[in-house]
Amino acid sequence: MPRKESILVFSAHSDDFVLGAGGTIANYTKEGKKVTAIVFSYGEKSHPWLKEEVVQRMRAQETLEACTILKCSVLFFDLRELQFEEDFRTKNLGANLVDIITKEKPSKIFTHSLEDPHPDHKAVHTITLNLLKKIKKKPELYIYSIWNPVSFRTTYPALFVKISKTFSFKMQALKTFRSQKIHILYPVFLLLFRNFLAGIKLHTLFAEKFYRIK
Ligand SMILES: [Zn+2]
Repeated sequence: MPRKESILVFSAHSDDFVLGAGGTIANYTKEGKKVTAIVFSYGEKSHPWLKEEVVQRMRAQETLEACTILKCSVLFFDLRELQFEEDFRTKNLGANLVDIITKEKPSKIFTHSLEDPHPDHKAVHTITLNLLKKIKKKPELYIYSIWNPVSFRTTYPALFVKISKTFSFKMQALKTFRSQKIHILYPVFLLLFRNFLAGIKLHTLFAEKFYRIK
């Protein structure tokens, strides 16, 4: 049997990959491709009144439910929020991720945009670029947006993906993040608007937009 095409989606927090690329992930898995989300942080700071392990378990559970809906798999790392680059170094995750990428041989990697104002999102962007310097067989590299407005600056080629058929899976997957209602309220509104705007380009109802940067 030929090997399944593999795609990796890097995600600073447990909900970012769904917000940024959930519909596209569902499209790929529907086509028989293997998609793995790499989540760098459980986001344990969101509930300071709960023990960190409780938040981690809750987040992991929600993320696994979202992945069941999108039919992708997930790997968690436990970087502390706002300490990504330091923790990444001290925990020596670089070697770990280089192994994963070398083994998976992804055709595409999706990661955060450098224009995103969230420091953890920026950190994941930088980490991704540094990792790819150490990989021989380079995948195509795409960025997605969470907190930054749709970019007008970039001159990179855009990739529009029709997600009208999988948009409902994306919304269902987002609903699994019960612990983050307030956190995701704004992006959900923004993402509906964005997916709709991108959809107009393709004469379809909803689409996701990425930029290919490598
Ligand atoms: Zn995030």
